[in-house]
Amino acid sequence: MVENLAPIANLIDEFAKLPGIGRKTATKLAFWTIERKEQDVKNFAKHMVEAKMKITFCEKCGHFTDENLCNICSNPKREQNAIMIVEEARDIFVIEKTGEFRGLYHVLHGAISPLDGVSPDDLNIKSLLPRLKNIEEVILATNTTIEGEATAMYISKLLKPLEIKITRIAKGIPIGGDIEYADEITLAKALEGRREF
Ligand SMILES: [Zn+2]
Repeated sequence: MVENLAPIANLIDEFAKLPGIGRKTATKLAFWTIERKEQDVKNFAKHMVEAKMKITFCEKCGHFTDENLCNICSNPKREQNAIMIVEEARDIFVIEKTGEFRGLYHVLHGAISPLDGVSPDDLNIKSLLPRLKNIEEVILATNTTIEGEATAMYISKLLKPLEIKITRIAKGIPIGGDIEYADEITLAKALEGRREF
């Protein structure tokens, strides 16, 4: 019984905590790990710890970075008059792949969800306001879920007095859809077809 071998059982337990990994796959991964060369496993563990320790959030926009500012905020070639608001930093990678947007980002690190106890105060919203001085367009690219829509609505109301053009991506992204899982063409069309909000 695998359960009697603590090191394997512990490894299976850890793999089973990964998103989308069930007990069966976790077991497979544990055996796969054991059968690999020692150096490969050491490298794997090293990179995992390194990523966790070195990657933080950009102090300006909330994107992943290993310095104070991310590679987008520190790039003077980015258009400085448009900000796209996303729920998670990982959404930026998907949008960047489309090549359709050359402006700046702001990461909320979540969406408003009263059922889960997430209020606007829990999100990275306060730091958005001082960034809007020379901004001509704010693009709301939160997910098309109930939470994402509620968040887009909240921010749009918050920014209304500032008289900045506010747009919302929608076209092409299925209702209830996560930006993260949209393919590049769909997302590029959604950006292209954004409408005033
Ligand atoms: Zn940044």
